[in-house]
Amino acid sequence: MDNAQVTDTLEEIALLLELSGENPFKALAYTKAARAIDGYDGDLEALVAEKKLGSEFGLGDALQQKVTELVTTGKLAYLDKLRASVPAGLVAMAEIPALGPKKIRTLHDKLGISSVEELEVACRAGKVRELAGFGAKTEEKILDGIARARTYADQFLYSEALALAEELRDALRNHNEVAQIAIAGGLRRGIELVDVIELVASSRNPKELLDDFVTWTDMKSVTSRDDHFATIILKAGISATLRVVADSEYAFALHEFTGSAEHNAALRELAAAQKKELTGHGLFSIKEGAKKSAARESIPCRTEHEIFAALDLQEIPPELREGRGEIEAAAEHKIPRLIEWTQLRGTFHCHTTASDGRNSLLEMATEARDLGLTYLGIADHSRSSVIANGLSEERLADQVEAIRKLNLDLDEFHVFAGSEVDILKDGSLDFGDDVLRHLDYVVASVHNVMGQDEETMTARLIRAMENEYVTMLGHPSGRRLLQREASRVNFDKIIDCAARTGTWIELNCSASRMDMDWRWWREARDRGVKCVINPDAHRISQFAMLRHGVTAARKGWLRREDVMNTLTLDEIRRALA
Ligand SMILES: [Zn+2]
Ligand SMILES: [Zn+2]
Repeated sequence: MDNAQVTDTLEEIALLLELSGENPFKALAYTKAARAIDGYDGDLEALVAEKKLGSEFGLGDALQQKVTELVTTGKLAYLDKLRASVPAGLVAMAEIPALGPKKIRTLHDKLGISSVEELEVACRAGKVRELAGFGAKTEEKILDGIARARTYADQFLYSEALALAEELRDALRNHNEVAQIAIAGGLRRGIELVDVIELVASSRNPKELLDDFVTWTDMKSVTSRDDHFATIILKAGISATLRVVADSEYAFALHEFTGSAEHNAALRELAAAQKKELTGHGLFSIKEGAKKSAARESIPCRTEHEIFAALDLQEIPPELREGRGEIEAAAEHKIPRLIEWTQLRGTFHCHTTASDGRNSLLEMATEARDLGLTYLGIADHSRSSVIANGLSEERLADQVEAIRKLNLDLDEFHVFAGSEVDILKDGSLDFGDDVLRHLDYVVASVHNVMGQDEETMTARLIRAMENEYVTMLGHPSGRRLLQREASRVNFDKIIDCAARTGTWIELNCSASRMDMDWRWWREARDRGVKCVINPDAHRISQFAMLRHGVTAARKGWLRREDVMNTLTLDEIRRALA
């Protein structure tokens, strides 16, 4: 069992303990243990073998024993017992946003509710509002949460789905019967949430290939199967489809199953205007006057590039195939050269153990340098973010000094000292100008009171951006994909303000953020706003998200020159000065 699985198990135990009404300190001990192990990058098995769980994580005897059992046997009798004692419906209720274990217990004890369905019925009957500590507003929030949990249930974050898709594709790519294979669909377009993994392959023996696909080791069940197509559901819960075509049709199928419905419809229309017909099987020229059977002449294309060329179009990168003006641009050869992830030179907005990060300043800097970056911005939380262990003025000053000192030892790599300063409720900042002016840069972000109306929230962000020390606006909508809706923000005004004040807007590429959303970037770019792609990394492994951040930037039509962290170290120094 690996560290992540141990973490998940301990978190599950904590939840089950809370749901069963145990002493809250007991659940807290499991939560704390889960966090400690989550932040540990070493070999857990070795720690167990050396009996060092106590000294490394500060675990008591009972917890040491349970973690040892988990790591050595992969099972835990205690967990099985707990699972049997708590109704599964209560665990499912914990997935509803705005519903904590304490409230779930009350609902169970007072109204006998043991499932999401029963909860929904009780809410609609107005029974929940009568409970002490609930009220009509909570009831409404619960109903809203149930609806959201249902939509979230079939959706997966891009980064998670892509990892599963790449694994599947790589396994199939080595298959003897595969000539070509690629990931298609929303994943290939880089959309932030997907509900299916779509693969397109060419083969002379579809049967054998599909036989192996429907028996893939990480599969839970087969949903459908015919001669050229199969759908399976992976153990992770997401479905995956494989479509197998002849090699001569491969490029057409790949194009067809990549583009959004709008893109495909627009392209078929353009083809028709040129007296051609485009389908998932081929491109055909149509001769007028002749009988239909004799009228179609196939235009062979081996690649998507050839398909676009046959239609007199510049090649359209998959990320742009959304039906948002890309075909018109391609006709005029105005598709820009999009940013590539190898063009990133550094990044800002990363955390360390000084606030809520899991790796030290030195570890973060070393990792960034090993990845080939030449600069890194540290921006730990400010004092108002108490839960995230935000830095006081004194601790921030110490950190700045530590960074200046570290820079003396670093060759051709530079750490910029910044802060992720909280934008307070009224748009003022958590630190005064006297503090901010000593920093290399400032990320300003909202972390609390996120439910303000659009006018108030927009004015709040604008006031922060108008501060001359604010370099960039962090995660502007505050959304957490599949967890929390975006705040109400007027992006039109935010973009205007960024253009007017020269404030950069962050494309925060933390897995569940992807914020500012790609749908706004083309507009922002056209108004002269600069982007900065930040992983908001709280641990070294999260630098990997930069690649996905670049995908989102490409979806937003951004070029190298639109993204500040493609600048070289000298250039970015000048930009920050
Ligand atoms: Zn933040
Ligand atoms: Zn952050």
